[in-house]
Amino acid sequence: VMQRFLLGTNWKMHKNFSEALDYTAKLRILAEAYPEYQYFIIPPALYLQELGKRMAGSLVLLGAQNMHWLDEGDFTGELSPAWIADCGAQIAELGHSERRQFYNENDYDLNRKVHAALHYGMRPLLCVGESAQEKMYGITEEALRRQLKIGLFGVVPKDASRVWIAYEPVWAIGASGVPADPAYVEQVHAVLHDCLVELFGERGRGIPVLYGGSVNQENCVALAERKGVDGLFIGRAAWDMEKFKTISEQLHAYFNTGKLGYG
Ligand code: PEP
Repeated sequence: VMQRFLLGTNWKMHKNFSEALDYTAKLRILAEAYPEYQYFIIPPALYLQELGKRMAGSLVLLGAQNMHWLDEGDFTGELSPAWIADCGAQIAELGHSERRQFYNENDYDLNRKVHAALHYGMRPLLCVGESAQEKMYGITEEALRRQLKIGLFGVVPKDASRVWIAYEPVWAIGASGVPADPAYVEQVHAVLHDCLVELFGERGRGIPVLYGGSVNQENCVALAERKGVDGLFIGRAAWDMEKFKTISEQLHAYFNTGKLGYG
């Protein structure tokens, strides 16, 4: 079955409440104009409940940027996966490189979070990516396979169909990031897809792998047209609705030449 191309953004720690309302109202309209994409946004968790209400019945999926793996407990400041799901999150973004770098998230804890997301009916969006150092040492493939194999350990093939993967090379993310070469992205996506098939058999083939890291209006088509790129996960360039709209238009012009999605 052909799936819709995935187009989403993680807001990180940006946007106040009124900006959030303005953005989502506009995105709702954009999503109606481009039904060929599955849009999703990952706002601050505090806004999920209100945005969930406002986006009900829209074509846009909502996600949380992080969560704990346990239902409840003495963990001051943490968010339970039960609350996240209850507030309307359909996606749990897990293991963004900033969480791994600044909050010491590791593959073993992320594996627990993947299981918690599945338990609460959400899609785990597991982010993987090699560091500049790992790339320099030539161990990108090893690093990524390790992140996938630990992060997805114990997930049964039946649930694998709800998993999304984002490939986000750490050196390509954010304002100081270097955009990745599309040919390199294609090679790495092939490694990730192969590993997913190794883990889940045929079901692994249906798991989308999104690319993220300095995606913008200029490079979005060159990345999206690469084999094995099933969606784009965008930071800065999608926080500005005008830019996100331009990206949507650029991809639309390309997709109308034949490629319509993945799977
Ligand atoms: C990200 O941090 O996930 C990301 C893709 O950011 P940016 O597009 O701003 O590099």
